[in-house]
This record gives sequence, C-alpha cells and structure tokens, in this order.
Amino acid sequence: MDEIKKPIYVTQPDLPDLQEFIPYLEKIWKNKILTNNGPFHQQLEKEMAGFLDVPYISLFANGTLALVTALQVLGITGEVITTPYSFVATSHSLLWNNIKPVFVDIEPEFCNLDSKKIEAAITSKTTAILPVHVYGNPCKVEHINKIAKNYGLKVIYDAAHAFGVKYKGQSICKFGDLSVLSFHATKVFNTMEGGAVVCHDAATKKQIDYLKNFGFVGETKVVAPGINSKMNEMQAALGLLQLKKHNLNIEKRSTLAQTYRKELQKIKGISFLPEPYNTKSNFAYFPIFVDKNKFGMSRDELYEKLKQNGIYGRRYFYPLISELTNYKKLNSADPANLQVAKRVAEQVICLPIYPGLNKKEIKKIAGILNK
Ligand SMILES: *Cc1c(COP(=O)(O)O)cnc(C)c1O
Repeated sequence: MDEIKKPIYVTQPDLPDLQEFIPYLEKIWKNKILTNNGPFHQQLEKEMAGFLDVPYISLFANGTLALVTALQVLGITGEVITTPYSFVATSHSLLWNNIKPVFVDIEPEFCNLDSKKIEAAITSKTTAILPVHVYGNPCKVEHINKIAKNYGLKVIYDAAHAFGVKYKGQSICKFGDLSVLSFHATKVFNTMEGGAVVCHDAATKKQIDYLKNFGFVGETKVVAPGINSKMNEMQAALGLLQLKKHNLNIEKRSTLAQTYRKELQKIKGISFLPEPYNTKSNFAYFPIFVDKNKFGMSRDELYEKLKQNGIYGRRYFYPLISELTNYKKLNSADPANLQVAKRVAEQVICLPIYPGLNKKEIKKIAGILNK
C-alpha cells in the first residue's frame, strides 16, 4: 500500500522485537510457571517500582480490575465523587462495588475534575474522591489532598493515562491513597492487557495481593471474597521488555507533540491543551478542541473528514459517562451540573500519536485540518 494512504489510527501499540521476546517465552515453557506470582511477575513488580520510583506496586490482569480492587482494599462505600469525563471503567468500578458515583464538573484548562467544585458535592455518605489524570496531565493534587484531609475522605487516582508522569519531580502515583494504572494495548505502556495499583505501605500491598488472588492467604486460609485479577507471566515478561523502551518512546512522543503544536497553532478554531506545569509529561494523547463557529465545521464533521482521509482519531471522551444508560438517572448527571464537561466532550478529537508515527504524517494531518 502507498505509505501515505495507509490508515493512521489514534494509536498503534508498541511492541518489542519478537526475537527479544522468544527467550522469555522459552523460560516460561521450561519452568511451567504461567501465573500466580511467578518469577517474571515478581521481577516486573520490582523493576516497575524502581522505574516509577514508587514504594509498592501490585500488578493486575487489567486496569479495571485494579480499580475495583483499589476501592475494595480501602473499604470504600456510599458515595464517591468522580468525573464524567473519562473512560467508562472509572465509574463502572464504583458500580461493581455498589457505590454511587457523584459526578462533579471538570475544569476547562486540563479537563480534569474541578477541585473547586468538589466540596459542594460532599454529603454525609461521601467516603472518597476518584479523580482521573486525564490525558496523563496531573490533577490539582495539592488541593484535592487538602479537601480529602478536611473531610476525612480517601483519594484514589485513576492514573490509567499517567504511566511515567512526574509532577514536581515525583511520580504522579505518589499522590493520593492509591493510584491505578492501565497497561492496555492502547495505553502509553502496554502489556497487551494489564494494570497495577500503587500504594504507600507494605500492609496495604499485602491486602491488595490477597484480593487479586481470591482472598487467599497461604494455601487454605481465605480472608476476603477476592477476585482473580492476577497478571500472568506472559504479560509480565512483555512488561519487562516494554520498560526498557519506555523512555525512548516518550522522547519520540514528545517530538511528535511539539510538531503538532507547531503545525496547529495558527489554525483558527482549533485549540489544544497547554503544557502542564511542573510536569514531566508522557505525551499519551494529543486532544484538539474544535470551535465550530471559528473553524467553520463541527467536531463531528471534522472527525468524518479525517476518517475519509484515512485518519482515525477518537472522541475521547464522548459521550460523557453521565450520559450513558446506567448513569443518566443520577441527580449529579444533570447536564446543568456538568456544563464544562459537556462542552468539551462535544469539541474533542484525540489525534493520532504513538512512537511509530512520523512528522510527515503529522504534517499531513495538519494539512487536512488546514484545508
Ligand atoms: C483504559 C482506562 C481504564 C481501564 O483500563 P483497562 O486496562 O482497559 O481495564 C480505566 N480508566 C481510564 C481513564 C482508562 O483510560
């Protein structure tokens, strides 16, 4: 196929050389340990904790089960304040725990949960805040921490987009009581499927590890109705190789993001997010926002036009979680309560960004936007 005509998707999962992976597979085939905290699982927990510079990490089969388990280990019940501007798994993890999501609007600068609006949503039933570092950009962690302290609430960050992000020189996963990562194929760091919970103390890690293995402590004792959400050895082995490539991948993404900024800055009616403050970004996504009046075309018209040209962006996040069947009847799902989120969800398109993309392709995308 003509290089320039092959479809460009919002992301393309990055994989190591297959040849590099074979020796890991041979080891698995030889020692017959496929899962249950095997040697690669243990090694990846250790190396990833070091790489991210966090004290404790527990690996999971995927990010959704990691979220569900994070809520359980802290004993979260009642109501949890969260954002409607996220992937549906954020709120689903609450429903899976019989917790009522309470939606609070986002702020327009980075599209994260608006910390200034959290307090007004707190009731006697509120037990926690579940914000999302949307697109990998840090939430207002200091403010959220202060509110949580004042009201005795727990904070669980959905950090599914934020692998490797640093804020004020520290891992973004060091903030809050727990942080949850996703290593799904579409994420910045992937183990095909996978996820993790980052915590701050050994006792909590132990509980998390029980919960991801049916609640088993040893061979015969079961301490909780845990689930099976263990990362297997193939995923962990892949993760070890992916870690080695991560820094280079982020550099490539950074260059591409800069190219987008340069190419798109003069297009009337197209805006993008500022660079986050005091942050080492992972450049996980490149969202643009279409102002129909100024651009002369709606977001959906542009989305279709890009598709016709072989560019498959994604409308992350549209529709809002609060507009979906299982959520729209909640009082907090009232669009009047979520005006910023509603506007942003109607304007956003995430453009393709991944290490295998090149500047020429970005210029082509910018060219389509410019026409
Ligand atoms: C991807 C994602 C999840 C779910 O992670 P999986 O590993 O796909 O289960 C949760 N929250 C957000 C914000 C995500 O983008």
